[in-house]
Amino acid sequence: MTRATRPPAACLIGWPAAHSRSPLIHHYWLRTLGIEGGYVIEAVPPDEFQDFVFRLSLRGFVGANVTIPHKERVLALSKPDDRARAVGAANTLWFENGELCSTNTDVEGFINNLDACAPGWERAEEALVLGAGGSARAVLFGLIERGVKRVHLANRTGERAQALADQFGASVLPVAWDALSELLPRAGLLVNTTSLGMHGQPALELDVGRLPQGAVVTDLVYVPLDTPLLSAARQRGLQTADGLGMLLHQAVRGFELWFGKRPEVTSELRAIVEADLNKV
Ligand code: NAP
Repeated sequence: MTRATRPPAACLIGWPAAHSRSPLIHHYWLRTLGIEGGYVIEAVPPDEFQDFVFRLSLRGFVGANVTIPHKERVLALSKPDDRARAVGAANTLWFENGELCSTNTDVEGFINNLDACAPGWERAEEALVLGAGGSARAVLFGLIERGVKRVHLANRTGERAQALADQFGASVLPVAWDALSELLPRAGLLVNTTSLGMHGQPALELDVGRLPQGAVVTDLVYVPLDTPLLSAARQRGLQTADGLGMLLHQAVRGFELWFGKRPEVTSELRAIVEADLNKV
C-alpha cells in the first residue's frame, strides 16, 4: 500500500508513553464511526523528538498527541494557536496546508466536561482554583474565556500562583495556600488541579461543607476516578465533574482534526476507559 492509499493514522508521542488511555479512546471512535484509520503509541526520547516531529508526515502520520516530557518543547517546532501559546504547552498536532499546527485541547476538555456535567456552572461569579502547574494554566484560560469574573488561585508555592496572575491578568487573584479555607464560602466553582488526592499522593485536606449551596466541584485527578474531594462534594449534594470526563472531552478535537468527523463522548466509551482505569 502506498502512503497515499494507506488509511490515516495518528500517534501519541511521549517518553514514557506506554500507560496512556488515548489508544483506547481513539480506537473506540474509529470503530464506532466506521472510519478506517489508526492510532499508535510512539515512545520517543527527548534527543530524538525534534527529528521525529520533522518527519511526522514522512512517517505516514496525519497528526499526533504529545505528552510528557515534550508538551512545552513542541511549541517551537510547530505553529501554536492562542490556546497553546497562553498555556505554554501543546498536546495536539495536525497539518493545515502542509504546515504543522499545534493546540492545547485541555482547555476545551475542561470546559466541555463542566458544560456536560454541570450546565449553568458559569453563573458562579467567583471560582477557586487549587494548583498552578501545567493543567492550571489550561483551566485559567478556559475560565477567563468563558467570562468568570474572579478566579482565586491558591498554590503551595505562592510565587507560581503570582506568576500566573501576572500572565493572565486582573481576574486572577493569588491567595495564600493556608488561607484558602477562608475563600471556600465564596467559591461557586472549586477546581482541583493539584496532584493531591491522586493515587500515591497525599490527600487534599479541605472542608467542602464550607462551600456555598449550589457550588460545583471539579477534580482533574482521575486515578482514582472517585477522589475523596468529589465523593465528599457529592455527599453534600453538590454537582461534580471528574477528571476522566475532561480526559475524554480533550480527545475530541484531535480526532476531528485527523479523521474529519467530530466524535461523541458516550457513556459506553466512558465505561470502557473506566474499566481500564479500575485495573490499576
Ligand atoms: P504539575 O504541572 O506537576 O503541577 C502540580 C501541582 O500540584 C502544582 O501546583 C503543585 O504545587 C501541586 N502540588 C503537588 N504536590 C503538592 C502537595 N503535596 N501539596 C500542595 N500542592 C501540591 O501537574 P499538572 O500537569 O498540572 O497535573 C496535575 C494533576 O492534574 C495530575 O493529577 C494530572 O494527572 C491531572 N491532569 C488531568 C487531566 C485530565 O484530562 N483529567 C489533564 C491534565 C492533568 P507546587 O507548585 O507548590 O509544586
